[in-house]
Formats: sequence, C-alpha cells, structure tokens
Amino acid sequence: MNVRTRFAPSPTGYLHLGGLRTALYTYLFTKKNNGKFILRIEDTDQERFVPGATQVIYDTLRDCGLLWDEGPDVGGDYGPYIQSERKDMYLPYAKELVAKGKAYYCFCTKEELAERRAAAEAEGKTWKYDKHCLHLSPEEVQAKLDAGVPYVIRQNVPETGEASFDDVLYGHIAVDCAELDDNVLIKADGMPTYNFANVVDDHTMGITHVLRGNEYLSSTPKYNLLYEAFGWEKPVYIHLTPVMKDQHRKLSKRDGDAYYSDFIEKGYLKEALLNYIALIGWNPGDNREFFTLPELMEAFSLEGLSKSPAIFDVEKLRWMNAEYIRRMTPEQFTAAAMPWYEKAGIAHMDLDILQRSLQPRVEVFGELPQMVDFLTEMPEFSEELYFSKKMKTNADTAREDLPDILATLEALPEWTESAVHEALLGLAAKKGKKNGVILWPARIAMAGKLVTPCGAIEIAVLLGREEALRRLRTSLEKLQK
Ligand code: GLU
Repeated sequence: MNVRTRFAPSPTGYLHLGGLRTALYTYLFTKKNNGKFILRIEDTDQERFVPGATQVIYDTLRDCGLLWDEGPDVGGDYGPYIQSERKDMYLPYAKELVAKGKAYYCFCTKEELAERRAAAEAEGKTWKYDKHCLHLSPEEVQAKLDAGVPYVIRQNVPETGEASFDDVLYGHIAVDCAELDDNVLIKADGMPTYNFANVVDDHTMGITHVLRGNEYLSSTPKYNLLYEAFGWEKPVYIHLTPVMKDQHRKLSKRDGDAYYSDFIEKGYLKEALLNYIALIGWNPGDNREFFTLPELMEAFSLEGLSKSPAIFDVEKLRWMNAEYIRRMTPEQFTAAAMPWYEKAGIAHMDLDILQRSLQPRVEVFGELPQMVDFLTEMPEFSEELYFSKKMKTNADTAREDLPDILATLEALPEWTESAVHEALLGLAAKKGKKNGVILWPARIAMAGKLVTPCGAIEIAVLLGREEALRRLRTSLEKLQK
C-alpha cells in the first residue's frame, strides 16, 4: 500500500504541543512506511482564522524537520492544499449526497432554529436539528433556491441504527444514530464545515491513514456515513490520546505554556522538545529515552502508542533539555548560547570560560541571563555574603585579606586566567591560609552575589582587569566604612 497521510491544522493560533505531537507521529509513521506526508491547512472557519498563523505552522514544522512532501507552498498533484482555495470543490459533492437522499437543503433561519431549540429545551429535551427541511417537497426546495433564499446543506443521518468504525488505538467505536445531529455540511457562506471538508479532502487527496486527536473519535462514525454514502473507501483511523496537564485536565492554551513557541522562547532546545514530545504517549518498547529525529523514524511504531492519556511533565522536559545541553560539544554549546549571551550583554567576554562555567549548569537557556547578570552589573550586596562556614570566612577575614588580594592583582603584569590563578593561590600560600579563604571574599567582592556559575579567577578574567579591580576597590571601601 502507498501510505499517504496528512497533518491538517487549523490556522487559529500558534502550534499547540498536542498538535505538534500529532504532526510528529504522523510524520514518523509515514516515513517508516515510505509514504507521503501531506500538509493541509484547514481554514474554512473564517471566524477563528488568525492572520499569520499559517506561517507559524510552516515555520514550526520546518524548524522541527517535519518536512511535508505535498502542501500549500511545495505543491503536489492533489492541490490546492489550503481548504479555502478548494471551496468550489465541495458543493458538487454535497449535491451528489442530496441526490442520493443522504443530505438535504435547509432554509431554517437562525431565529427559527433558536426558537425551536428554546422550546425543546423548555421541555427538558436536548436539541438536535428536527429535520424540518428534510420534509420540504422537491418543488418547494427548488422554488426557494430559485428565489435565492439562503441555505445550508445538512447531512441526513438515519434516525435509527448504529454508526461505527474500528480505530487502531481505541478499537470498535459505535454510536447510536439517534444521538447524532444532522450536521451542516455546507454553510450559508458556501464554505464546507470541517465535518464535510475532512471527508472530501481525505478522499480526494488519497489519504490512507488518519492520525488525529481523540476529540474527533465520536464524530468519526458520522463521517463514515458520508464515506458509505459516496461509496468511498475509508482511511485507517488512529486517534491519539490527549496530552494532559495533570490527571484531570488537558494541556490547554488557556494555561499558557502550551505552544511550541512558548518553550522555544524560554530557551528549550527544539531537539529536546521534539524528543520529549515523542515520548508523551509513545514508548519504544525498551528503556531508551534519547532519540534524534532519524532515530525516532527508525524506532516508531503504532504498537508503541499508549492507550491512556499521558501527562506533559515540564520537570522531565527540563531534565531532558539539560541532558541535551551537557551532551553538546563546546562549540555547539557556544553557538547555541550565543543569542542568550547577546541578550545578557556578555557576548564579548571570554567564550571559553563562559562555556566551561555554564555548560554544566544551564538547564534551560532562558535562565542564562539571570545566572550571569552580575557580570554586567554589580549588585548591591550585604556583608553577610562574605560569610562561609565551610571556607571559614566572614566580613572580618575579608577586611583583613581583601587589601592583599587587591594589591596582588593590581601588581599583575598580565591578566590571564593562569596569571590570576597563580597570583591568588600564591597569596594564600604566602599567608598560610587555605585557598578558599582568599577565593571566597575575592569572588564575593567582584560578583556581589552568593551563587555564581564560576569562581573568583574566572570572574576576574570575564570582567577584565579594569572592571575587576574597580569592583574589588569599591567592595573594599564599603567594608572599611
Ligand atoms: N483541522 C483539524 C484540527 O486542527 C484537524 C482534524 C483532523 O486531523 O482531521 O483540529
């Protein structure tokens, strides 16, 4: 079988992580089966359309390496790939269903519908369309069409019986037709609804496998009535379990942090994010956790998809991101950190020292500017920072040792890491003190911060001679006041 799949996002905002996971699984399944991965933009709901959202979809998928074989901007034999550009295709199909008695014109106005709905609800019934217009005679229908009365076309769902399908993940799904509404297929503006367009498009694009969110699980039987009405072969359905925020709630846009871009802006690596997303709801069957995209392609199978909803665990993602950072070469780290160095105003400093200090400590790049903020601005700090139980230092020992530290460093002919190193350790030896007794106050006096990603020697070099000495002098003056 020539596998053909599609990712069919609606351009209603940024790309949700759940959507990205659907795209990823679809892509992996397709590539594993040497199939074609198609991108289709479902923009028929004009009210929900967000300008720019289509571009975000392209950019995100490309960024993640999920390249489509056919789609709006790359073309293909089954285009157009943007639903609104296919607008004229749907009406003839809807008319075919009308001719077969599987759909019908409906002329009910909003007001009429609202009135009948209110009446039904007043009687405690749940409203579904009452098939009012199904009972119009062909002549009545024609007369209204001729008079230009606005209309929609509705699916004529049987009033009894069962509609069902078999899902790869969820098994047999059946619904009572009596519970199904006669959904609109073609709207008054001539646009198809999702309910109709997904069927026509999947068929006319030759889609063999549909992977999508499980929110469509209960509507799929109804879509299958349409396939049956047309006499079309149905695709294989794989509905995916939702990505959960916790035990009870789906990861939702309203909670924030649900979009791919949220995490990229926070400084997560896209490789780590994609790797982690792959593991929410899928497991490779062994205990491997780290995968590149090609490795995922190799390892992926539908059998590994989980049947129960998986929780998106930010802490786990964070751990994985940190692991990705640790596994970088120094060059890769510096390249990835550079935008954050620039943001932090430290891109001109010693990149080798920065890499050695930060690569083992940064878990998410967004936190880097805050970790190094003291390098660009000396914070106000209290004398208590000179206290270290372990190093046996405090403000008094600092008052005693800082003048010597300052003098030693002032006397240095060259300002290199090894020179500063020898100078400070030499001073400790000369004074018969432990290294820490000298290094601790030196670091505090230059950084003004208790926790720093590197020690006094590195800080001195990062700041440069002039700034390092200036800070030492200022801190000493404060201590002596
Ligand atoms: N446009 C739908 C969505 O964004 C796609 C559903 C499907 O894949 O059929 O949820």
